[in-house]
Amino acid sequence: MVSKEMWALGANRSVIRDLFEYGLQQAKIVGPENVFDYSLGNPSIPAPDAVEEAIRNILTDTDSIKIHGYTPAIGDFATRKAIADDLNNRYSAGVRPEDLFICCGAAPGLIAIFRALAASADAEFVAIAPFFPEYRPFTACAGGKLTVVPADTEGFQINMTALEEKLNANTQAVIINTPNNPSGTVYTDETLKALGEILTRKSREYGHPIYIIADEPYRELVYGDVCPSFIPNIYPNTIVCYSYSKSLSLPGERIGYVYVPQQAEGRDELYPAVAGAARAGGHVCAPSMWQKVIARCAHLRPDLAAYDANRRLLAESLKEMGYRMASPDGAFYLFIQAPGGDDLAFCQRAKEKNLLVVPGTGFDCPGWFRVCYCVSPEMIRKSLPVFKALIEE
Ligand code: PLP
Repeated sequence: MVSKEMWALGANRSVIRDLFEYGLQQAKIVGPENVFDYSLGNPSIPAPDAVEEAIRNILTDTDSIKIHGYTPAIGDFATRKAIADDLNNRYSAGVRPEDLFICCGAAPGLIAIFRALAASADAEFVAIAPFFPEYRPFTACAGGKLTVVPADTEGFQINMTALEEKLNANTQAVIINTPNNPSGTVYTDETLKALGEILTRKSREYGHPIYIIADEPYRELVYGDVCPSFIPNIYPNTIVCYSYSKSLSLPGERIGYVYVPQQAEGRDELYPAVAGAARAGGHVCAPSMWQKVIARCAHLRPDLAAYDANRRLLAESLKEMGYRMASPDGAFYLFIQAPGGDDLAFCQRAKEKNLLVVPGTGFDCPGWFRVCYCVSPEMIRKSLPVFKALIEE
């Protein structure tokens, strides 16, 4: 006998993975130049040169046993210090190394946070549509219930009235993801302050803190003059989950951190609970080599020129054709209203033309679809006639 829930998770592959694999199959049949795969959020800019240089230096100046050995479960001190220094330089945030827990990317960090906060079987977490579909299995495996605030499809900020209706005495946290996957929008300071005010009021009413879980793998991926705030500076009861997967183009290396601010209520129980939840999930330590890389590279920022050029080319061309989309200020996604209104039907029609885009239904936002623009500009140019044919059909 196996667990039905686990079986279902393993047997039913994600729509995105399915599309990606379909693209690989189709490429063998029609040629890779005729498949326009916008499905997967795999960074397409290389990691900064300084990352490779750091690896070379570590290999020559660090003892091999240290490079490959276990580190403390919470992470090397030097790594946590480098991250704390960087956050303090940028945001005057008062981060201490002991407030950081180094984990294997955002996904296990989120699971540890959910498990740490799921104090009882009634624990509820609130997600704001559209959202990263993995929040569902992550909260379920923590034993919590996920409730969803419907998308504000006008501006892709947060519908505060709808949010307030979802809060109750069992609510442990609201998960926010800005810059957002899949909408590409960045929450304004006004939105974050309004959210903070509601949560402060509701925490008081229910007699326990309602945390924000800030899932921030795209924090540095913003364009133009958009400048996202550091959320704990707005709402102190914020637990940050960060990853270097997107910002330094290191998704396969599995490195990130959880930050529990010293000013967060219950911090002295919360941080050990995150560490304990990670332990219960099999965390031993984040990859030792990559911790040492981050100790030297925490201050690096990505060169976004290639993403920005893709974003402009695609957004401007599609808008000209008549597509309506969320404001593409961050991450590397465009979120577009499906012509005809049915995202599943639209994405199927697109798939038949070897244009692979992801239905919004999987992000709890039917009627929209996601385009991931970490691709080559040549592919974008070649795919434009297909987008045009689809809207004209
Ligand atoms: N959160 C969001 C919103 C994401 O888009 C992703 C990955 O695409 C993750 C978390 C997980 O990132 P990681 O590779 O760090 O586990």
